[in-house]
Amino acid sequence: MNRRWDVVIVGAGIHGAGIAQAAAAAGHSVLVLEQSAIAAGSSSRSSKLIHGGLRYLESGQLRLVRESLHERKLMLQLAPELVHLQKFYIPVYRHTRRRPWQLRTGLTLYALLAGLDSTAHFGTVSRRLWAQLDGLETQELQQVFWYHDAQTDDERLTAAVVRSAQSLGAELALPAQCLGATLGEDAVRVRYRHAGAEQECDAGVLVNAAGAWAGALAGRIEPKSAVPALELVQGSHLVYEGPPQQGVYYVESPRDGRAIFVMPWRGKLLVGTTEVRFHGDPASVAPAAQEIHYLQAVLRQYFPRFRDPQLSQPVASFAGLRVLPAGEGHAFHRSRETLLTTDRPARPRLLCIFGGKLTTWRAVSARALAMIAPSLPLRPALARTDQLVLRAS
Ligand SMILES: Cc1cc2nc3c(=O)[nH]c(=O)nc-3n(C[C@H](O)[C@H](O)[C@H](O)COP(=O)(O)OP(=O)(O)OC[C@H]3O[C@@H](n4cnc5c(N)ncnc54)[C@H](O)[C@@H]3O)c2cc1C
Repeated sequence: MNRRWDVVIVGAGIHGAGIAQAAAAAGHSVLVLEQSAIAAGSSSRSSKLIHGGLRYLESGQLRLVRESLHERKLMLQLAPELVHLQKFYIPVYRHTRRRPWQLRTGLTLYALLAGLDSTAHFGTVSRRLWAQLDGLETQELQQVFWYHDAQTDDERLTAAVVRSAQSLGAELALPAQCLGATLGEDAVRVRYRHAGAEQECDAGVLVNAAGAWAGALAGRIEPKSAVPALELVQGSHLVYEGPPQQGVYYVESPRDGRAIFVMPWRGKLLVGTTEVRFHGDPASVAPAAQEIHYLQAVLRQYFPRFRDPQLSQPVASFAGLRVLPAGEGHAFHRSRETLLTTDRPARPRLLCIFGGKLTTWRAVSARALAMIAPSLPLRPALARTDQLVLRAS
């Protein structure tokens, strides 16, 4: 007879890990199937920011920014070994599209949404200190704003959440690839390949947290449920020697005005990110030549040392995939809210998760658990995820 789990989760990215933690903390039996490695998908290829997303204010995503800032505060408390506050700088030049008054307004709103605590302070860097800003171009520079946001190591954060879930009893099968599933009246039959053999198990609820693969996996679950129209958008980062010492620089691409981060990362400098539509196998995503040129142009514009051809070649690069609602216009302006869908409104057997942010993993996982709770047996809770400390190892 097949083993029956309360919840089977496909994917050990930040969302699969978070829902595993939430379900295990609520006392449920949990199995996570991961086809490759923990955080093998977008959860190790992000910009590594635990942030409210200052730029989402421009597209009016106030709810998302408020929730993200709340989660940032919580992560700084619960995961101090993995999430740290960082100083961010926004230089404003004569040619910069976002003018000082707009930035001041945005930063004020950001501070208000953060709850006006000590992390919400912002200001401008005095002109006599500009020379200390990591070789930032000062020609035509008019003002430099500073504020705070947080940085993490996305891969290690995901691994920490998996360990937290495991400490509460969740099990991880790795590598284990989910091949498909059949939804019954009260249970789901899940098929997967593990340890060289095809296997089956039963679940009260199946959670599809397969990231960029989630749409394809949904197509292998019978009977088929409606999947929202989605688009995969690739984002690339380049890595250079010589990390910025003062913090993260938040600059505008000279080409299209998009916001780009230049930040310290594992003792190096990381610059990203791009937004290019992606078609194909998510496992094959890699930076394209046009993205490398785009990011090199940003570095050359703002940090003159990169105008030296010998320094303009990155030492490494990586790309990841965003899952965004399909739509017209530039992906940059598309909603970053997470989409949670179920096969039916009452007592769902399947929950799919599309898109979202690293920052909001815990809040989104709590929402996901609340949606599937009516299908799960009542169990004594073991812990609350807003109190579980996450350790680096
Ligand atoms: C370029 C870029 C920059 C970003 N920067 C930020 C940022 O700075 N801050 C922020 O908050 N958010 C950021 N994000 C968003 C964030 O990274 C993602 O929303 C998040 O990592 C998605 O996690 P996930 O668990 O849904 O998917 P993933 O991390 O992709 O995990 C999905 C997992 O499912 C597994 N899987 C797939 N199919 C199967 C199968 N059939 N069987 C078993 N396993 C399977 C995959 O191997 C993978 O490990 C960024 C995203 C991108 C692309």
